[in-house]
Amino acid sequence: MSPDSPAVALPGGVAMPLVGLGTWRLSGEEGYRAMRHALELGYRHLDTATMYGNEEQVGRAVRDSGVPREEIFVTTKLPPGSTGRERQTIEASLRALGTDYVDLWLVHWPPPGEQSVATWREFVAAHADGLVRAIGVSNYDLAQIDELVAATGVTPAVNQVPWSPADHDPQRLSGHRERGVVLEGYSPLKRTRLEHPTLASLARRHGVTPAQVVLRWHLEHGIVVIPKSADPGRLKENLDLFGFSLDADEVAAVDALATA
Ligand code: NAP
Repeated sequence: MSPDSPAVALPGGVAMPLVGLGTWRLSGEEGYRAMRHALELGYRHLDTATMYGNEEQVGRAVRDSGVPREEIFVTTKLPPGSTGRERQTIEASLRALGTDYVDLWLVHWPPPGEQSVATWREFVAAHADGLVRAIGVSNYDLAQIDELVAATGVTPAVNQVPWSPADHDPQRLSGHRERGVVLEGYSPLKRTRLEHPTLASLARRHGVTPAQVVLRWHLEHGIVVIPKSADPGRLKENLDLFGFSLDADEVAAVDALATA
């Protein structure tokens, strides 16, 4: 675990940095520039997906950054329309990314019915064959995770779901912890009213922005977080989360926004 990029351990000794760059809508040259800038600032975790259409830019940003590939955690995701063609899809992702492996491959949305377990078996096989260092899911509820584990004995390392103060659900969070599934929160800022007085007051107290309070709150709960920004200032702000912390009362005040 690097001091600049604190990480959570996934099975198999894979270190997943707690803060990553969301890359949805980062595409073309603007997207490439934002990713390059993020890597210069110290981001070591990029979240992409086949659906985002930007794997080529992600791969180019990683290579051009000069940072060794093994120091950058790259996630991609299987789109819903590609179930049944899992192996071809990950091979196409690896070609677009220009890399031999991704660090994490996620099922982007739960496939319907029996396809869910069939897709998961393909994920287990891709992991065994070394194409991906860890496998997980996205947008699954706990019952859908339990179904995969019951059928295959393999627990998803990660579940990537929408998570912001408004979404906070302690039971769902502890359900993931009990199963040994790392919770990864997407759309942490977009789903938040950043001008809420509670966030404004905590931001003033710590000399940070409301967005930093929200992202730090994810970290206090051990939730991996992947804010997206195309703006150099906000990219810097979203990674600058390790010079302050929220105490238990402050965390509880943000938790309470879920019911506010
Ligand atoms: P987000 O990261 O919560 O919010 C992005 C928006 O917030 C952008 O409009 C951005 O504008 C703005 N922003 C960024 N930093 C800010 C700051 N410090 N202060 C104020 N505004 C700020 O939303 P998201 O892109 O939906 O979610 C993040 C990532 O999660 C995605 O990029 C994607 O990688 C992943 N995701 C996954 C799924 C899934 O189904 N698995 C679904 C949605 C998203 P600027 O760019 O102008 O800064």
